[in-house]
Amino acid sequence: MSKKQTTLRILMVFPEVVPFAKTGGLADVAGALPCALSQLGCDVRIVMPLYTRLLGQVIASGPTMEDLSVPFGSQILGADVYEAKLNDDVRIYFIRRDEFFDRSHLYGTEKAEYFDNAQRFVYFCRAVLALCQAVRFRPQVVHCHDWQSGLIPAYLKLSFGSVGFWTETRSIFTIHNIGYQGRFGAELYPLTGLPYHFFDVGGIEFWGDINFMKAAIVSADEITTVSPRYSKEIQTPEYGQGLEGILQTHRRKLHGIINGADYQNWNPETDPHIAANYSRDDLQGKLTCKRDLLREVGLPKRLMKRPLLGVISRLADQKGLDLLAEVIEKVVAEDVGLVILGRGEERYHLLLTELASRYPRKIAVRLEFNERMAHRIEAGADMFLMPSRYEPCGLNQMYSLRYGTVPIVRATGGLYDTVKPYDPKRGEGVGFRFTAYKPEAFWQAIKRAIKLFNQPKTWRKIMKNGMAKDFSWQASALRYLALYERILGKP
Ligand code: ADP
Repeated sequence: MSKKQTTLRILMVFPEVVPFAKTGGLADVAGALPCALSQLGCDVRIVMPLYTRLLGQVIASGPTMEDLSVPFGSQILGADVYEAKLNDDVRIYFIRRDEFFDRSHLYGTEKAEYFDNAQRFVYFCRAVLALCQAVRFRPQVVHCHDWQSGLIPAYLKLSFGSVGFWTETRSIFTIHNIGYQGRFGAELYPLTGLPYHFFDVGGIEFWGDINFMKAAIVSADEITTVSPRYSKEIQTPEYGQGLEGILQTHRRKLHGIINGADYQNWNPETDPHIAANYSRDDLQGKLTCKRDLLREVGLPKRLMKRPLLGVISRLADQKGLDLLAEVIEKVVAEDVGLVILGRGEERYHLLLTELASRYPRKIAVRLEFNERMAHRIEAGADMFLMPSRYEPCGLNQMYSLRYGTVPIVRATGGLYDTVKPYDPKRGEGVGFRFTAYKPEAFWQAIKRAIKLFNQPKTWRKIMKNGMAKDFSWQASALRYLALYERILGKP
């Protein structure tokens, strides 16, 4: 990456960061974007909560600060602070308070969200600001991600904007998924310590409740979301999940910047998790990966000759699993294999378990979060299904492209921006798309793909077109940097 020297001080606030904690693509972004910005010369630091699962990994080094004072409603609570380095480069602070973060999951179990998520993340937001003051790190830009850090732009604008330490600080808020807004009962508002007048339709108030994401949208100096297409979609009732009006009002500060893919982690030429490495010029290893995957998940060898479809997904409504369930009979009738890796809502666990038991020779299901398996599916499958109802950016389709695993996607959000449909006349395009959120539309796209799979020369061409695509972080990091410079009034 070319070094462009800049001395910007950036604080990134994330609820999850690879390799420390991950429920989805947000954590991948958190693990990569700060490093890309650091390579551009920024002084980037990260703050995240210290979840129990990190204790062994991080706590070995002991806290760097004890009993940081964090305002919380009418009380002052303590926090311990731990530190580590991300990629030997970027400093990351962890906020420890076991009462809030010593849990089996990050935000809730398969059955329900944690009852005190408002308290947990009000506390986290206050702790982030207290930490900066305590370590005298005065960021020029605080870049917040998703609702868990949504109150920070509001604190900066309303409570601290005129206080010496924060006067020069500007805020950016990135919407990674508008489906998770952090909406809670109004009775919790006093806990935030925000001024009375902010509980208003132009502020945090949302249909009588409080809404952390809305607080960020109205307060941040700039808002971004993770693909150009999604930035348009969320201004419409179909995708805005109730926030479309407020986003239209603030549209001049809303930008779509596509996420990058972390090719250090997701590269078939070097991936340590897969049975054989391969490249665009030598695809032989991909067959080995397919054979190995079939064996590992217990599907018959016979499927070597047939398309093997992969799915890796949080099992949530957003991901179009209902469409998948509705086309499944037709798909298996085509004599193809299907490997599904996912974890999430209980009803989808039941649905997929049932499907796998009905078609044990065709469908293999793993209900777990398993990084290694995710890599092996990307490498071993021929096609990758993402029939998402909505998809802010989506990372798996980018990984699939790099692994020569042809994506079949619904044309929404980042899937629309990154998967250009194959055009047989020009020999261009990298995958298959459908638009209507209907089983029939999805099925037609799968059928088109299966038809071309049976034409090996064409199929190879589609694979190679995809493998040549480059969605690395460099371009996106430069766009964020330009935005930081703009809000700071730099040329
Ligand atoms: P989202 O953030 O909505 O979950 P993305 O496609 O942006 O969707 O990112 C999902 C990330 O999480 C990818 O890195 C994917 O490999 C990973 N992932 C999702 N489910 C699993 C799972 N069950 N096991 C391993 N990795 C998973």
